[in-house]
Amino acid sequence: MKKILTGVKPTGDQMHLGNLLGAVLPFKRLAEKNDAAIFIADLHALTSVKNAADLKRNTHEMALTYFSIFGIDTPVHIFRQSDIPLIPKLNWILNNVTPYSLMLRAHSFKDALQKQKILEKSLFPKIVFDMEKKCLKAGISDKAIIFEKTQEAYDNLYGNAPNLNMWIFNYPILMAADILAYDTDIVPVGADQKQHLEMTRDIAKAFNKTYKTDIFKLPSEYIEKDVSILPGIDGRKMSKSYDNFIGIFDDDKTLKKKVMSIVTDSKGFDDIKDPETCNVFALIKTFATPDRTESIRAKYLVPGYGYGHAKLELLEILTEYLRPYHDARAMLEKHPELIEQKLQEGARIMNERIEAKMEEVKEVVGL
Ligand code: AMP
Repeated sequence: MKKILTGVKPTGDQMHLGNLLGAVLPFKRLAEKNDAAIFIADLHALTSVKNAADLKRNTHEMALTYFSIFGIDTPVHIFRQSDIPLIPKLNWILNNVTPYSLMLRAHSFKDALQKQKILEKSLFPKIVFDMEKKCLKAGISDKAIIFEKTQEAYDNLYGNAPNLNMWIFNYPILMAADILAYDTDIVPVGADQKQHLEMTRDIAKAFNKTYKTDIFKLPSEYIEKDVSILPGIDGRKMSKSYDNFIGIFDDDKTLKKKVMSIVTDSKGFDDIKDPETCNVFALIKTFATPDRTESIRAKYLVPGYGYGHAKLELLEILTEYLRPYHDARAMLEKHPELIEQKLQEGARIMNERIEAKMEEVKEVVGL
C-alpha cells in the first residue's frame, strides 16, 4: 500500500464536472487501494485570499465538497494544512538546503516575473488602444462602456496578479515540506505541476546529501493518462477561466439554464444530426449508461429528434448522476460538526506522521 497525497488550494473557485472527471474521481479510485490523504492548502491560499472570512468560508466549502464526493466515512485523511504546526518548521529547515539557482528555474516564478515586468512597462495604454479599436468595430461608441470594458480587460489580465511577493518564489519549498513530511510515495499532479515535484525531489536529495542521510523518501508523480477533455457549454474545454462550466453543486435552476444553453449547430428538428460533433452528446456519452448513450445516438440519426430533446435528456442524466453528491452535501450542510470532526481526525493522523519524521530531522540537523 502506497502513501498518496494531494493538495487543493481553497481559492473559492467552484469545482466543475471537468475537475470531477479529470482529477477528483481518478484520485478517489487511486485512494481505494492505497493510503491516501488530501490537504486543504489554506497556507498556500494566503497568497491570493486576503480576507479572513473568505479564507474560512473557502476552506469549509472545499472540505464540504470533498466529503460530499468521498463520503463522510471515507478512509482518506482529509485535513487542513494549517492544522499541522510542524509544516512551517520543516519548510524553514528545507529552505536551508534549497539552492537559489533551483528556485530561479521554477516556471511558476518565471511566469509571475514576466507578468510583473509587463506590468512595470505599463501596457495599460496598449490595452486602452486595443479596446477602443475593438469597440469601434463592434459599433460601441459610449465612452463609459468603453472605459468599463477596458477596466475589465485590465483586471482579467493583471487584476489577480499579486505583487511579486516572496510566496511566489518560495512556494515550491512549502510544497516540498507538505510532501516530504509524511513519507509520501506518490503525488497525483496535472502536467503543469510536474516541475514542482521534480523540485521536491531535488530538495529532498539536497537535504539527504548535505546530512549524509536517506530520511527523505523521493516521491513519484502520477499523471493520469488518457484523461479525455470534457467540453464546456460553449464547446471549448470546460474551465473556470472560460466561465463555461457546469458546477458539481449547481442548483436545479442553474443546471437547467446551463444545459439548455449548450452551443449546438443550427440543424432543425427533422434533420439528421452527427452525435460525434455535438457538444450535448459529448456530455451525454460521458455521464449516461452505455445503453442510454446508444439509444440517444440512434435518435440523432433519424428525423424527429431536436437538440432541445437531447438537452432535456442530458439534464435528466446529469441530475441523476449528481444526486448522490447533492444529497450528501445537503446532509453535511446540516451537520458541519461532522466535517470538523473528520478534519480533526485527519490532522491527528497526519500530525503523528510528521512528528515522527521531525524527530528524525531534528536529530540529523542537530536541533
Ligand atoms: P484546474 O482547476 O483548471 O487547474 O484543473 C484541475 C484539474 O482538473 C486538471 O489538472 C485536470 O486534471 C482536471 N480538469 C480541469 N478541467 C478539465 C476538463 N475540462 N476536462 C477534464 N479534466 C479537467
